Amino acid sequence: MKLLNVRLISDGEVRERVDLEIEGTQIKSVTPSGEHAATSTENPDTADSIDLAGKTVIPGLINLHVHILLDAGNNPAAGLSEPIPYLVLQGARRAQAMLEAGITTARDLGGYEFAEMSLKRAINEGWLPGTRLLTSGKVLTMTGGHGHFFGQEVDGEDEARKYARYNIKMGADCIKMMATGGVMTAGVDPNNTQLSEAELRAGFQEAINAGKLTASHAQGTSGIKNAVRAGVRTVEHGIFLDDEAINLMLERGTFLSATLAAPKMIVAYGEAAGVPKYMVDKSRRIMEHHLKSFSDAFKAGVNIACGSDAGTPFNPHADLATEIQMMVVGGMSPLQAITAATRTSAEALMLGDLGTLSAGKLADIVVLDGDPLADLEVLRQPLLVYKEGKLAFKRPGALGDHSPLVAQPGTPVTEHTHPQDHFC
Ligand SMILES: [Zn+2]
Repeated sequence: MKLLNVRLISDGEVRERVDLEIEGTQIKSVTPSGEHAATSTENPDTADSIDLAGKTVIPGLINLHVHILLDAGNNPAAGLSEPIPYLVLQGARRAQAMLEAGITTARDLGGYEFAEMSLKRAINEGWLPGTRLLTSGKVLTMTGGHGHFFGQEVDGEDEARKYARYNIKMGADCIKMMATGGVMTAGVDPNNTQLSEAELRAGFQEAINAGKLTASHAQGTSGIKNAVRAGVRTVEHGIFLDDEAINLMLERGTFLSATLAAPKMIVAYGEAAGVPKYMVDKSRRIMEHHLKSFSDAFKAGVNIACGSDAGTPFNPHADLATEIQMMVVGGMSPLQAITAATRTSAEALMLGDLGTLSAGKLADIVVLDGDPLADLEVLRQPLLVYKEGKLAFKRPGALGDHSPLVAQPGTPVTEHTHPQDHFC
């Protein structure tokens, strides 16, 4: 199977007129376009080769920070009162919408009662269509700390260890710990320091011992430093960075997953759309500093990955383009932002066979109609999405095919932009 004459964006570079050959689940070769006769533009699910002149190919996008069981409605915590089987079915629909949006990998950073573990299993076993999921189980937070309504409260190093171990026992790929207060929990402040450095270190060490990832919700300055000193791999949010925090991150190779889209959407929709006032007030207060911290970290050379906190109010799972656009507002070039959402995010997740497109890598491929470096909006409407070499989505009418063809597996998902329409 060959994709011919594409513009390839991978590994921080752009190459014009390239052919990609897919064999099984992997990329077999990436070569300059030759004189291949294009055999078909009509049936990407059956053709041996597809002429994609004028189209752009990027690696599958990676979102480091989602909540697959939160509904992206005006008050996602309230959505968790639905029966768990219903939450999982909603999650399945979102995971499919993400795949169809070209997001082929996502890390859940806060599930509910381990229900997301079953969703991950079904997708990763290959019988349910959806984005490849990594999960962290229950967030670990101090008693009354940020996210206590859906996480596990832990106090002291022993409890941090115990519940990190328990998450791992239940199938976690990552241990997430709350170093500070946050926006979505009433009564806590983003600047508050929460779990101590010693508690964070105890939990993260269990993850490291088991070969798992670590992430810390860290918004206030001293909490960020605690998390970085405790050995966390990805700082989530990083709202109030100072020079010392940035230098610590540089020294330790810590990644930043800024989730700039989350407060942006809360403020954009606001109380008029039913978002609780405390969330809107806190988001308004932190937004400007958040973007400045991101810019400072980027300029200083911190590893910038891409996480959007999808599932928070009006921040839908199938939209990573808004986060990528915000990263450009924060100073990255479109090429750098796409590289952050592919190569650097794969590095942050220690997924060496994803994030770039070269021989031997997994064939997670997104075909875009046009050039995302000229207009990032084209990220929102992929023409084709391949996951591990299999066509997972074809936009109806794409590539001259006007039949109501539905890609295997699943059905196309329309974009949800209306405030009331928050299902995905
Ligand atoms: Zn989150």
